Amino acid sequence: MENIQSKVVIVTGASSGIGEATAKMLAGYGAKMVLAARREDKLKQLADEIKQAGGEAHFQKTDVTSREDLQTLAQLAVDTYGRVDVLVNNAGIMPVSRLNELRVDEWDRMIDVNIKGVLYAIAAVLPIMKTQKSGHVINVSSVAGHVMSPASAVYGATKFAVRAISEGLRQEESPEFGIRSTNISPGVVATELLNGITSPEIIGMSDWVRSLSISADRIAKAIAYAINEPEDTSINEMIIRPTIQA
Ligand code: NDP
Repeated sequence: MENIQSKVVIVTGASSGIGEATAKMLAGYGAKMVLAARREDKLKQLADEIKQAGGEAHFQKTDVTSREDLQTLAQLAVDTYGRVDVLVNNAGIMPVSRLNELRVDEWDRMIDVNIKGVLYAIAAVLPIMKTQKSGHVINVSSVAGHVMSPASAVYGATKFAVRAISEGLRQEESPEFGIRSTNISPGVVATELLNGITSPEIIGMSDWVRSLSISADRIAKAIAYAINEPEDTSINEMIIRPTIQA
């Protein structure tokens, strides 16, 4: 993984799950990590762990629904390292429920975090990457961004949107500015994501869903692979499912 060495990588949603696993793996390959999430204590713990293992990490308490927070985050990377090579746009929530439960506040939150948060992070790094004439945006979508299933209408809509954003970014920014765009679509992964579900019907299915899951470092591996490819090669789309997931 020699092409990861020394790259400056921002990871949103780094305080748990896929983001945390990705941060550890990339730091292990010599990337300079800039970690973001709302839980500052978890970010500090992760940054300390990375540094103790000989890696480099800074962190910034960030709410991805705040444009200002994301501008501050990108500025931290530039002030510290002078550039942003990779954005792993990973922060997301999944309070799934059937539409007829009318959990409209949760619909709003999913749209704010999963779509607007992804766009705000892109807005914060794109001018920097264009100036550099290089960069790589990795958006974490989902299998739910490819196929719909009951209770995932809004979550799936946000993840279909993430794929649209990834492809739009590729078409607009890759040919002219050399900015790579990768869309990662995980299947069921063992993380804290299911803890945000409030619908009793869906909570009742959580144990079954968990029984299918693969570990977060499988997704981190896919992300590391995409980053490590040489600059002339852009991995645009990857789906990583547990083998037993239908
Ligand atoms: P986790 O719940 O473990 O991680 C979610 C991360 O997002 C946390 O670090 C959380 O940090 C962060 N986050 C949530 N809201 C915000 C916010 N407003 N601002 C900043 N950070 C926020 O779940 P996963 O690791 O599973 O999720 C990562 C991504 O993977 C998500 O986009 C999810 O949709 C996607 N995914 C996950 C799958 C799975 O089965 N686990 C399957 C398919 C896709 P904090 O609370 O500290 O802010």
